[in-house]
Amino acid sequence: MANLIKIPENENINLDTMLNLYLDPLYIYMPITKKDNYKLNNYLYKNTNIENNKTSISGKINGAKKVIFNNKEVVALEIKNDFKENVKERINKINIKNKEDLENILKLYNLTNIIDKIDNKKEYLVITCALDSSYNYNEVIILNNYYRKLCKLINDLLKILNINQAILAIKNTSYTNIKNIKSIIGTYPNIQVKLLMDNYLVSYDKFLCQELNISLDKTIILNITDIYKIYTIFKTNMLNETFLSISGDAIQKSMVIKTKLGTSIKEILDKFITITEPDYTIYINGILKGREVPNLDDYIVCDDLKYIVINKRQIIKEEECFNCGACYKVCPSNINVLKCYLENKKNNKCIGCGLCNYVCPANIKLKEKIYGDIDEKKKL
Ligand code: SF4
Ligand code: SF4
Repeated sequence: MANLIKIPENENINLDTMLNLYLDPLYIYMPITKKDNYKLNNYLYKNTNIENNKTSISGKINGAKKVIFNNKEVVALEIKNDFKENVKERINKINIKNKEDLENILKLYNLTNIIDKIDNKKEYLVITCALDSSYNYNEVIILNNYYRKLCKLINDLLKILNINQAILAIKNTSYTNIKNIKSIIGTYPNIQVKLLMDNYLVSYDKFLCQELNISLDKTIILNITDIYKIYTIFKTNMLNETFLSISGDAIQKSMVIKTKLGTSIKEILDKFITITEPDYTIYINGILKGREVPNLDDYIVCDDLKYIVINKRQIIKEEECFNCGACYKVCPSNINVLKCYLENKKNNKCIGCGLCNYVCPANIKLKEKIYGDIDEKKKL
């Protein structure tokens, strides 16, 4: 069993515990592969399918520009919001009775990652609200705001998937969530609440099942964001919003923003975020397992971008390895990290968690050598 460790919280973060909304962006950006298929000033209804993504607003095509979408630079249509939210035709409300119905509707929204998880007959449905980073507040804020509706949906999903037991896994430090859930959980005898230690990687599938003492093979693991997506589809027959956490000690206030898919990150930062430090570092999807980027100018809101960290820049000097052994003692995949590093070898068992970098007193960037290019890997 892996020895999970607690990563101390950054005490200089000032978190806004309310959910912030930004549902009327000026523009959204839709990735395309063939620019010639689209004409300037053509009108697009909300929910129009464009190369497997759906427009989250209605408005005219204003041009095209390069953006970073799902970690890749691509060309995207710029759509100017007319703020009318015009929808041409709604998908008829579907009565979801079984797993096949559920899969069919998830396919319409390209949610293959959820379909893959519900593929086999399982005994447990585990919903995790245990964040893997102290800088990502999405799941805590989602559960805080929607716990009644989402618990009802989890209960409905048990019937749809023909599963007897759901487990809601929450960190033992999520005090408001625990209080809220306790107030309603008596209504749902088939949903159990389990409190997890506030350790890094506790929500990673393998470690989560070890912690819950259940078999991974018999378990469907979804997170509360997946449940929220299913809830939105059931309720509105659309899926065009998502949550973005922006935090760090170089900004005045850290927050979670519910916004439209395809919105420019720059537009969101201009509206909500005040940077307080002259010199800062930006990370996409975390400090340990994410990556540093020079700026966010071309990034757009997409499923792959869950949180942004903006922290005061720290000058860290890499030193010679002095063979302390900390890196291989901490590795949850039991990799001989130092050996891989010295031999300049990647290791397929590496999950890119970044713990080796975190514990290395010589500040050596071990993960970057052992994990390789995160674009090619299944992310945590
Ligand atoms: S990043 Fe890879 S090598 Fe480093 S601790 Fe995590 S799993 Fe081990
Ligand atoms: S943690 Fe750093 S200093 Fe210690 S053995 Fe590993 S690479 Fe060397």
